[in-house]
Amino acid sequence: MNSTVETNQGRARTAIVIGAGVAGPVVALALRKAGIESVVYEPYAPGTGSRGGPITLASNGQNALAVVGADRAVKQAGHPTPRMIIQSGSGKVLGAMDDDPDLPPRITLTRADLIEKLQESAVEQGISIVYGRRFVGAVDTGRSVIARFDDHTTAEADLLIGCDGIRSTVRGIIDPAAPSPRYTGLIGLGGYVPSAGLADTGGAWHFIFGRCAFFGYVTCGERTGWFANLPVKRLDADAVRATGFEEWMERMRAAFADDAGPALDFLDRVTPDEFAPPGPLEDLPHVPQWSKGRIALVGDAAHATSPSSGQGASLAAESAVELARCLRDLPVEAAFAAYRRGRADRVERIIAAAARTNQNKAAGPIAARIRDALMPFFMERFNTPEKTAWQYGYRIDWEAAA
Ligand SMILES: Cc1cc2nc3c(=O)[nH]c(=O)nc-3n(C[C@H](O)[C@H](O)[C@H](O)COP(=O)(O)OP(=O)(O)OC[C@H]3O[C@@H](n4cnc5c(N)ncnc54)[C@H](O)[C@@H]3O)c2cc1C
Repeated sequence: MNSTVETNQGRARTAIVIGAGVAGPVVALALRKAGIESVVYEPYAPGTGSRGGPITLASNGQNALAVVGADRAVKQAGHPTPRMIIQSGSGKVLGAMDDDPDLPPRITLTRADLIEKLQESAVEQGISIVYGRRFVGAVDTGRSVIARFDDHTTAEADLLIGCDGIRSTVRGIIDPAAPSPRYTGLIGLGGYVPSAGLADTGGAWHFIFGRCAFFGYVTCGERTGWFANLPVKRLDADAVRATGFEEWMERMRAAFADDAGPALDFLDRVTPDEFAPPGPLEDLPHVPQWSKGRIALVGDAAHATSPSSGQGASLAAESAVELARCLRDLPVEAAFAAYRRGRADRVERIIAAAARTNQNKAAGPIAARIRDALMPFFMERFNTPEKTAWQYGYRIDWEAAA
């Protein structure tokens, strides 16, 4: 894309978007709505990665997608799962929560389907996504940004928006001292098994705080999605990568052997082709700098929450729309500052809440007993639609001036 010199009192007119995960396509759509044309660059061709395990998109994320007309396709690709049931390893129900009936129900789908639908929505609305290009560096000239890619090509625009995920390269360009992802002490594993022969959960996610590990499952039509979080104190990323399918199955069988839930039944049905690559659960509790000059971050690159919040994709979509709203109304520097001011408290609050959930998932035997005794009280008191409205009821007022 040719850089267009900014006109109109310092407002940007063109952008380079790095990454076509969740934030990338949504920011491109929202920028277009704000009058800024962008091209998205992504290393991986569509459909080349793992399908992944089940992820949920909460009402606040769906509301953000609705602003850019991308909610319908995502809803059609997923299953409504508006109920959560929390259990202990002994099978006791510790609490339940239904989504607020005034909000769109939580949707469960694969991560690959979510990203595919967002990319399709962007392309349908005229956004170009260039596949096969990995961003490696950028020069901010003061009037434009020139991006470099691993195939020695370059692109130039008024702005560069880094939507390149938790291991963002763009973050390191904004601030070489930026924090790296923090390991939570848990390894995540998951995938899908055939639903035949398993009890239908009827649109409910079941979450089990087991004696040694955490297990979640939900029926999605003919397939049932599941995931496990295993506490592993010290992370050896090479060892995680080198561990084979059978060994993970053995480790999970051992972890869930004493629990009353159906985890062992599930594990008997798991096959390697429906098993997402295991990985550490990580977060980024506080990234001090989200922008510099003409470069800014959106999504996990700026504010990764661990998966325990079920909010990472929703927050990425919200931030994408909010950044575009600020750029619509303000010159670049003021827009980036207003964007961060409007987002930081909310995302950091959600990241911190997820970190507390992680402690419960990795509790030792004594802490687990206390957790199981106290959780019914906390569920009843704090996990109600009213008490969680700040999180799930969040709506972006696109028409409001930034
Ligand atoms: C196991 C697990 C379960 C999860 N469950 C949920 C859930 O239930 N609900 C929820 O809301 N969230 C969940 N999340 C979090 C959610 O997936 C992320 O928050 C969300 O994907 C963030 O979107 P993003 O666009 O910022 O980053 P990503 O989706 O990671 O996208 C980043 C993109 O940038 C590309 N990229 C990276 N480097 C470069 C480069 N140098 N040049 C160009 N492109 C690059 C990548 O290929 C990728 O496509 C889960 C995460 C994990 C790991």
